[in-house]
Amino acid sequence: MLVVQKYGGTSMGDCERIQNVANRIAMRKKENHHLVVVVSAMSGVTDTLVGYTKYFTQLPNPREVDMVLSSGERITSALLAIALENMGFKAISLSGRKAGILTDSIHTKARIEDIDTTYLKSLLEQDYIVVVAGFQGVDKNGEVTTLGRGGSDLSAVAIAGALQADLCEIYTDVDGVYTTDPRIEKNAKKIHKISYDEMLELASMGAKVLLNRSVELAKKWNIPLVTRSSFTYDEGTMITHEENIMEQAVVSGVALDKNQVRVSMVGVSDRPGIAAEIFTAMANANINIDMIVQTIGRDGKTNLDFTLPQSEIEEAKIALKDFEKDVENIEVDCNIAKVSIVGVGMKSHSGVASCAFSALAKENINIMMISTSEIKVSMVIDNKYAELAVRSLHSAYNLDK
Ligand code: ASP
Ligand code: MG
Repeated sequence: MLVVQKYGGTSMGDCERIQNVANRIAMRKKENHHLVVVVSAMSGVTDTLVGYTKYFTQLPNPREVDMVLSSGERITSALLAIALENMGFKAISLSGRKAGILTDSIHTKARIEDIDTTYLKSLLEQDYIVVVAGFQGVDKNGEVTTLGRGGSDLSAVAIAGALQADLCEIYTDVDGVYTTDPRIEKNAKKIHKISYDEMLELASMGAKVLLNRSVELAKKWNIPLVTRSSFTYDEGTMITHEENIMEQAVVSGVALDKNQVRVSMVGVSDRPGIAAEIFTAMANANINIDMIVQTIGRDGKTNLDFTLPQSEIEEAKIALKDFEKDVENIEVDCNIAKVSIVGVGMKSHSGVASCAFSALAKENINIMMISTSEIKVSMVIDNKYAELAVRSLHSAYNLDK
């Protein structure tokens, strides 16, 4: 079996922790696996390096920034190889370049275009444990690039895909994906298996265990992902294709997003093209619109409500200035929260949404906006009821059982 493991910054936090990682790798190696291990920089190091580059100017040359940032992972990968060799294993560290990771030339947020696995494969055949510096690659001119913050997950998944690995394990300081945030609902349960699509919905709404791009990539390559803790021996959560999950829960999890704001455009002139104009303006300002609700027009006027991330509201206000003549009033509500239920089992069950509405009704929580997709129902409510809503939805679908 070929396993790709990735250890995050906390797991690699200091030499003692790197030794702990080496011990875990040793256990896996004895099960007779081929192992590729992708590592992050020690936690905090990338932030420190970013700080150094900004000492001189707020806009350092991105090529040079990548030269600096890529050094964090060079350190941890080589230290881990030293620890493994010291334990009697054949181990070698590879920079992104040596690992064959080819990217485009967009420094500090490069995308992986291809992986030349020739050298990696020859090392695996010689039974080396190959330790790869995550978060980095090279472009076609051999310039060092980095993949964007948190990007070593992507390195791991991309290598797993290119090598057609049997499994990609992501080790962090959390032990898996939960039915909801355990800080809000203490009876939240760890999910053993979840589909890629459900994970994407949960992650985009705050279950920050994995980068969405990593899950998308794993789905594309059909690589089962496991997220687990490097500090415990608990099983973790497997993210895989829907077909590999025998018992599909109707609802797998409840997500909460408190970082959205709602814009209400009241009395918008109801004419063809108005929505296109407004949302083109938003797109041009790089604003990520989430939910959109338009009510049926009356007397040539309609109402248009939508949500967007709090951090983008100032840009949105500027873009909306052009529409003042088309609208009676524009209101912004920052005190909202979006709660969502997610589950692939919804596709084949009825009454799933009504159960959610009833759960909120029972707590006297008013729903301002609703949107649904095949595997998700989202509701916008008053921010002050967010936690209560999460708990009541969690128990309405028996997720605590
Ligand atoms: N060290 C990089 C960062 O902090 C990459 C990673 O940790 O995934 O963003
Ligand atoms: Mg990290």
